[in-house]
Amino acid sequence: MSYIGHGNKEIVERVISSPSKAKERIKGLKQVSVTGRIARECINIAYGFFTPLEGFMSRADVEAVCKKMTLINGTLWSIPIVFDIARKEIKKKSIKEGDTILLLYHDRALATLEIEEIFNYDKIEMAQAILGTTDTKHPGVRMFNELKDTFIGGKVTLVNIPKFNPPFDKFWYTPNQLREKFAKKGWKRIVAHQTRNVPHSGHEWLMKGAWFSANGELPVEKLQTGILVSCIIGPKRTGDYIDEAIALCHQRLHDARYFRDDIHMVSIALWDMRYAGPKEAIFHAILRENLGCTHHMFGRDHAGVGSFYDPYDAHRVFDQIPKGSLSIKPIRVLEWWYCPVCQEVTYSGLCAHSKERQKFSGTMIRSMVEDKVKPTKLIFRPEVFDKVMECADKYGLGSPFCTEEYLAKRQPVFGLPAL
Ligand SMILES: [Zn+2]
Repeated sequence: MSYIGHGNKEIVERVISSPSKAKERIKGLKQVSVTGRIARECINIAYGFFTPLEGFMSRADVEAVCKKMTLINGTLWSIPIVFDIARKEIKKKSIKEGDTILLLYHDRALATLEIEEIFNYDKIEMAQAILGTTDTKHPGVRMFNELKDTFIGGKVTLVNIPKFNPPFDKFWYTPNQLREKFAKKGWKRIVAHQTRNVPHSGHEWLMKGAWFSANGELPVEKLQTGILVSCIIGPKRTGDYIDEAIALCHQRLHDARYFRDDIHMVSIALWDMRYAGPKEAIFHAILRENLGCTHHMFGRDHAGVGSFYDPYDAHRVFDQIPKGSLSIKPIRVLEWWYCPVCQEVTYSGLCAHSKERQKFSGTMIRSMVEDKVKPTKLIFRPEVFDKVMECADKYGLGSPFCTEEYLAKRQPVFGLPAL
């Protein structure tokens, strides 16, 4: 069964799963070691998370993305996917257009790259076009600045199947695997919840509210609308929740039956955040369209950072793209607050107790978690709270937040077997 993804194209799958065929394929190829970001993007390309991309972008595609927010064929696309390499290394290994090279990650074979084009692109211009700023206080700008001086465009084929380490193995699905899962569940509509957080009740209600919106007018006889929690797994900064806690706490919310088993599931997706606000919101929509989702919720300041974007830029951007360029529908949500007058979690677009309502402040929740003070059930589910503590001990060297020590010692999310 083949499934259709973004740009009305069949989900890309460029994977050689037989080790003997893979060994044959990589024999004698020049080798280049890649960073974590490139490794994650190779996996995404090869399994179709980035459909219709079959490889890293050519210069013309990068330019079209920067100037028109499309690929050269006119398909909506908002973030350049580039393979960067030092000119020195290209010279040293006499790599040229037309070559196929083997990409290594931690000294293990990962993928082949068929070099179609070796080119340069102004990184500052790229940052300005995608992020709307060149201010180095913006983490996305720093990421663009750190790219090496030369880019390679060309098709990627995975030659080694990444092995996800526990607890991530339970949450890893390729787009085709997710589609099969949705078909089995009988879901007709699937709303994506993108997260990099351990869920408090505000997040839980975001999901519940978005489920109501997506379910809309469907008959009640059979529930056909599901929620896909899609945890973004990527590079971490100190103070972020540890990846293990994010996925396991979302699963705990499910297991503690705050969601029915037949309307909710948790998954992970590999992605290095660019914090590009509205353009990243478009990108997340494309990613989840490829996963088979029909709806995607966007809250306040989605994928933003500091005060670089208006909190609702990521809502407005969906009105600015051509009709029909995206099949997934945005569900635009305001904030869920705790209201002591209503005595419930309430929507900022509903209850008028604006003086009494309390925000789910990340700082407040964080200090409760740090002090191990169990918050009220209406703010943070006790089962989730216990799970955060368990994850802190089991994975986080005592803390559910990334510390320098955790970042240095953590077990990798995935590894590659020897071929
Ligand atoms: Zn109220």
